[in-house]
Amino acid sequence: MPDYDVLIAGGGPVGATLALALRGGGLVVGVLEARTPQAAADPRPIALSHGSRLILERLGVWEALEPATPIARIHVSQRGGFGRVELDAGEARLPALGYVLDYARLARTLARGLDAGFCDYRTGAAVTGLTSEQDRARVQFDRGKGVEHAAARLVAVADGGALMAVAQVRTRDYRQAAVTARVTSRAPHRNVAYERFTPAGPLALLPDGEALAVVWTTTPEQARLLCALPEAGFLQRLAHAFGSRLGGFTGVGDRAWFPLALKVASRIAVARVAALGNAAQTLHPVAGQGLNLGLRDAWELAATIKDRNADEIGGAAHLSSYGALRRLDRGGGILFTDALVRLFSNDIAPLRLGRGLGLAALGAVPPVKDFLIRRMIFGARG
Ligand SMILES: Cc1cc2nc3c(=O)[nH]c(=O)nc-3n(C[C@H](O)[C@H](O)[C@H](O)COP(=O)(O)OP(=O)(O)OC[C@H]3O[C@@H](n4cnc5c(N)ncnc54)[C@H](O)[C@@H]3O)c2cc1C
Repeated sequence: MPDYDVLIAGGGPVGATLALALRGGGLVVGVLEARTPQAAADPRPIALSHGSRLILERLGVWEALEPATPIARIHVSQRGGFGRVELDAGEARLPALGYVLDYARLARTLARGLDAGFCDYRTGAAVTGLTSEQDRARVQFDRGKGVEHAAARLVAVADGGALMAVAQVRTRDYRQAAVTARVTSRAPHRNVAYERFTPAGPLALLPDGEALAVVWTTTPEQARLLCALPEAGFLQRLAHAFGSRLGGFTGVGDRAWFPLALKVASRIAVARVAALGNAAQTLHPVAGQGLNLGLRDAWELAATIKDRNADEIGGAAHLSSYGALRRLDRGGGILFTDALVRLFSNDIAPLRLGRGLGLAALGAVPPVKDFLIRRMIFGARG
């Protein structure tokens, strides 16, 4: 018998969600997480969709994540071009289009859930190797005491793409980086999230408590510079890129930057191994799709596991059903974000005009707008 029914490599938000979704199913579940609880917190802000909230509510963790700042409206525009579109929670008959919170708090809250003892949760345990056999996958891991081994009917790789050894990986280097920071503005945000496309890349300002969380995509060189600038210089550049809405900016907290690339595993389920979250697809943060998609991966992988007898878990029939179930949602998310980045991150005049017309048309055709909202919130099953 393998040591585990399901062994999860990576206990970030997606891996932890999978473990929590398997709770109470009578399965032997393990989680190997490389980070220790003392590791530095990841500063990225996260916009979770209403659909993700529903998943986290079902897992019983949403309450612990409150207060998360609701997004009542999303305002999309392009710098130096006409056309804009507004998506409204009221129009979509939802309490909010999404919620903003920080990655570190989300990861900590989910990790606390794993500490409850229903699974074998090990931190400071870095997976270093993965091999498959007929009836099990074997994992090598390191907790600083030399190499250790474990075997499972199914290894779920949720390591954020660190191993990316599950299958062939298609990559596109966007030659962009995202700067993150929290800023304060003169005018209140009124729970509006702004997505502004600039030639260097999209700039998002998300309502975050009384302040705004910035995810500012630009060239890697500019990103480094923006992080090094004195406060006044940063705020001035932000105001220039964003425009005069919100009445200008008054302060900025710590800044960090993240390199951006698209990484897509050609197959997410092979021989006793399934990939999910960023390990299956790492997307550009435009439109805040990556984690939302990853939570749906976790939710649906858990559903396919719970549907089966233990001895069927990780078998060919199981894995092909997981791959098929996720095809449309993954494909849609990858295509949507990749197309947005490539279409909007340039200053080519005819494209700018086309984008303006597209945004104006989107705003004017309610069924298309409704489709977009539902796609962003619930994925392919919207
Ligand atoms: C700037 C920025 C802003 C973003 N904003 C949004 C947003 O608004 N909305 C949204 O939906 N998405 C957003 N994303 C994407 C989102 O952050 C990712 O999709 C999400 O973090 C993926 O979660 P994950 O658990 O799959 O991977 P990760 O968050 O990368 O977690 C992977 C975990 O695996 C662990 N690990 C790594 N290697 C190993 C190993 N060898 N062994 C064991 N454990 C290991 C890591 O320590 C980590 O805990 C953003 C991304 C960026 C860069």
